[in-house]
Amino acid sequence: MRCWTFLRSARAHALRVFSSDKSSRSRGLPRKWPIAGVNRVVVIASGKGGVGKSTLAVNLALSLAGFDKVGPVGLLDVDVYGPSIPRMMNLKDQQPELDEKNLMIPPINYGIKCMSMGFLVDESSPIVWRGLMVMQAVERLIRQVSWGPLDVLLIDMPPGTGDTQLSISQLIPVAGVVMVTTPQDIALLDVRRGTEMFRKVGIPVLGVVQNMSVFQCSNCGHRTHIFGQDGGKSFAKEANVDFLGDIPLHVSIMEGSDMGKPITVAQPESHQSKAYYEIAEKIWKKL
Ligand code: ADP
Repeated sequence: MRCWTFLRSARAHALRVFSSDKSSRSRGLPRKWPIAGVNRVVVIASGKGGVGKSTLAVNLALSLAGFDKVGPVGLLDVDVYGPSIPRMMNLKDQQPELDEKNLMIPPINYGIKCMSMGFLVDESSPIVWRGLMVMQAVERLIRQVSWGPLDVLLIDMPPGTGDTQLSISQLIPVAGVVMVTTPQDIALLDVRRGTEMFRKVGIPVLGVVQNMSVFQCSNCGHRTHIFGQDGGKSFAKEANVDFLGDIPLHVSIMEGSDMGKPITVAQPESHQSKAYYEIAEKIWKKL
């Protein structure tokens, strides 16, 4: 019991330190400044893994890039332990080249500039790193990449509330975070924690996206709420944040991600893709 109290107060202290720029400076920690040539940064986060955060990040990047009003879009995967963007964006075997300033040039597919730890390590080799190494890797993926010019950079976070989340909040100004969850209680517990953390470090919460809320049988059309129905909506209400939309559970979304041809590229007219466009539109309005 005492151990938990200690852990909680240590964590609260860490959040206070990281959320205070002045405090960071006096401790010799890096200062917050924007990424050169990038207009806005939006973070895609979740409390739990496997809720569809990377799939959302990829399809939102593609949706935004398809809007006339939006300039170039980039996608940064800072999930250093389980990077999935190279596979989802069909850039699996790419290795970034260096420009004349020794900055990494992000590989491009479907018009999106992408960067990920997955480009720098072998997909099958495990990454065993301590917190400080993770923080340094995240800083490199932000500062040692020739990102600009970009209108929007989406950052695909690892799940949870750890070193990466704190690093991002400390290194760069972020326009807002989109929280992703599935509707069941076990996922909602974690998204609540994640939302609270982003609030504490001063990142505005743009809203909540509910993924995999409804499955429609392609034979008979019957709709089933496999993971529950409105958990994400009730959470949004309770946390006083906007509900940005629902993405159905659909095999084409999974196949698209796994094959490196996201649904918004493979089937741009499908109702699944439209769900992503509508969410992207709402996010853009908020930016
Ligand atoms: P996370 O980034 O939260 O760990 P992913 O985006 O990697 O989750 O998704 C986990 C798995 O679920 C992937 O195989 C992905 O293709 C699949 N998936 C995500 N969203 C959907 C959806 N709406 N319908 C069907 N499969 C989905």
